[in-house]
Amino acid sequence: MKKIIKGKLLSSISPLEILYLDPGYLIISEDGKIEEIGKEMPKGAGPDSEYLDFSSKLICPGFVDIHNHLPQFTLSGLYRGNLLEWLTDIIFPVEERFSSPEVAEIFAERFFQELLSKGTTTTSSYVTIHKEATEVAFKCAKKSGIRAFLGNVLMDQNAPEHLIKDMQVLMRDSSDLIEKWEGHDNGRLHYVLTPRYAPSCSFELLQGIGQIAKKFDVHIQSHLAESKAEIAVVMKTYSDFENYTDIYLKAGLLTEKTTMAHCVYLEDEEIKMLKNTGTKISHCPSSNLFLQSGIMPYRKLEKSGIPIGLGTDVGAGYSLSMFSEMREAIESSKTIHFLDPSANYKPITSTEAFHLATLGGAKALSIEDETGSLEKGKSADFSVIDIAQLDVCGEDFFSKPEDLISKLIYGNGENYIEKVFVRGKQVFNK
Ligand SMILES: [Zn+2]
Repeated sequence: MKKIIKGKLLSSISPLEILYLDPGYLIISEDGKIEEIGKEMPKGAGPDSEYLDFSSKLICPGFVDIHNHLPQFTLSGLYRGNLLEWLTDIIFPVEERFSSPEVAEIFAERFFQELLSKGTTTTSSYVTIHKEATEVAFKCAKKSGIRAFLGNVLMDQNAPEHLIKDMQVLMRDSSDLIEKWEGHDNGRLHYVLTPRYAPSCSFELLQGIGQIAKKFDVHIQSHLAESKAEIAVVMKTYSDFENYTDIYLKAGLLTEKTTMAHCVYLEDEEIKMLKNTGTKISHCPSSNLFLQSGIMPYRKLEKSGIPIGLGTDVGAGYSLSMFSEMREAIESSKTIHFLDPSANYKPITSTEAFHLATLGGAKALSIEDETGSLEKGKSADFSVIDIAQLDVCGEDFFSKPEDLISKLIYGNGENYIEKVFVRGKQVFNK
């Protein structure tokens, strides 16, 4: 049955432009696509359509979280100094527990529910090195209704014994998972090749991953230039290379389907390498602050033309809420401005942050034809948000869309999400 949705429709058109229709209408086809969007009751609505009246509520595109770690989400907020100390003390021990598929299932079920409850309808997530745990994660994602890019973390050196595997085994695991899950459910689920970062992979492994990516035309995700201490380790491990990015470039890992998380400390030469290969960037501001890694120079990277999306990077990021991540993106860019006012650095606006969390993220994953905004022909992936609670005095202070976005970003907007839909099907109800 078709659905007709009435509500206040809010969607990003570009980093500077917002679509806001109040009231607005969506017609959703039986297969979950937006057939029509407009200010008036669309003509294509037949008498047998299901009518959902959310007149007083906001209809907002589902968020796209392009970088996070499934096994880490219950550990968010546990602090142990910088990246390398935190990995050793907090993260590796819990990842070892994923050798049990039962543990993986408990985590995965909660994780996808938590994402959906916060309005995230697309996620790109690291699992652990375990093939079985990754298989379990795919099954749970399938059941939850979320869109997901999932990958087993690939490591063959510089990690605890139980978290590394022989390269040949890793290559086989990846090929098996690709054959089973890539493009599953008509493109809702994808396999993503997931080398953790250069130091935990031999160059032969990185090259092998590059070959698999080419053979199967699948996505790649990894970490790049997150902290200064990390870069020192990388350049010690890979002393023959020009710089950090050069390692991934020479291994064949920089492609149009690659997202690199962080990119806090990139030389101009490295930015060019990303740009020339069509690689995308995942900006993870809360994680960068939490682990004292630094602040990504957003304007410089934006100016280079490299597509950028937002990642919560949970558990170094402390919340799966994309409203929280938008807030940190704005606040950390204000800090760059404070540190050097003479540079005239323009902090990120709420409208830009909203773009990064929705359409920007979809572009970074090359799925902008499918999701990321409320547009005809795209999948009906959206949240219903009860914004009446933002304006408790009923004075209509937030009738401008940019104010509404700002209020949600700074007022923990995730608390007001009532329902979430993917492909027109309800996948979360408060
Ligand atoms: Zn990460």
